[in-house]
Amino acid sequence: IEREQWCEGCGVTLQTENPEEQGYVPASALEREHIICRRCYRIRHYNELAPVEQDPSATLRLLEQIAQADALVVQVIDLFDISGSWIPGIHRHIGNNPLLILGNKVDLFPKSIKHQRLKEWVQGAAKDLGVKPVDVVLTSAAKGTRIDVVAEAIEKFRDGRDVFVIGTANAGKSTFINRLLKEFGDEGEEAVTTSPYPGTTLDAISIPLGDGKHIIDMPGVVRKDRMSEWVDPKELKQITPDGEIKPKVYQLSEGQTLFFGGLARIDFVEGKRQSFICYLANGLYIHRTKLEKATEIWERHRGELLSPPKNPDSLPKMVRHSFVINATMKEDIVISGLGWISVGSEKAKVDVWAPEGVRVELRSAVI
Ligand code: GDP
Repeated sequence: IEREQWCEGCGVTLQTENPEEQGYVPASALEREHIICRRCYRIRHYNELAPVEQDPSATLRLLEQIAQADALVVQVIDLFDISGSWIPGIHRHIGNNPLLILGNKVDLFPKSIKHQRLKEWVQGAAKDLGVKPVDVVLTSAAKGTRIDVVAEAIEKFRDGRDVFVIGTANAGKSTFINRLLKEFGDEGEEAVTTSPYPGTTLDAISIPLGDGKHIIDMPGVVRKDRMSEWVDPKELKQITPDGEIKPKVYQLSEGQTLFFGGLARIDFVEGKRQSFICYLANGLYIHRTKLEKATEIWERHRGELLSPPKNPDSLPKMVRHSFVINATMKEDIVISGLGWISVGSEKAKVDVWAPEGVRVELRSAVI
């Protein structure tokens, strides 16, 4: 590209070098009169939203505009990693606008768990963070579960206004927007268009709502404190659950260790024999061994028997998080972006090892 050109759809600067980055167009498309970037092209022609790499500071600048608008804010959270789904500084971003929380990936939970229970759990977590949503709606964007209930809630709470959709990367925001496009977008060529959000030339996609208002899809916010950010994108599938999680129950005695692939490890340091119930991607390899041999096995087999990751050097060094379980209630040890281990039937001392920077925490049990 000789001089700077912009996408007529979203206003982003066009480039022909990198298909993974925003503003990409194949060089051949530059011959056309009206040029749109590949992302907008896909939305127009296939009702499909393609993910792009975002510049984090540009994302924040874009989020900051929400507070100035009069709109409904819909935050997509990942029920599988709820504390990892919160957007830091969300109060500041939404200003006085109402917040509707969309608890996504409900399909990962056992059918036996009541929606009301999950909903209250999300409401509790929101309250702990000082966020007061107007409502919490559960859905599975991937399966289309309750998408009509979601659409109704959006219609009700937007009350004639624009809708901003926000979320951390990987919460399922694109899947959700694509689902909305499928269910509610028209077939016609111009039915789904993209346009720059007023005052920006950044990549926020907007979908017309018919009354002159729009659903504006904000870029995903990247949080580095989750395992999912650190594994190689090719290995991400192995740790991302894609259907109902089948919990794996281990009866452990003091002095035993569980490895979760080569990504994390849990040592049962002290306490009576008890169960450790693991909620992780069904395909993730769990290896049980003796604590006294654990370090040696870890060093010898990581990247082979203990994988992912195939390349252990791609992760930060492992650090230890020590927990005292009081057994006054059931609790979950959460390894953000990987899953959780339900404990608490007996008192225990437990050490969890995870790559430095990945958040490990104790919460009251969800199931
Ligand atoms: P985004 O980064 O927020 O746009 O997230 P994506 O839409 O790309 O989804 C991230 C990952 O979560 C992908 O692996 C999706 O297949 C998966 N995903 C999205 N929605 C759902 C859902 O409702 N259920 C399940 N099980 N997985 C989902």
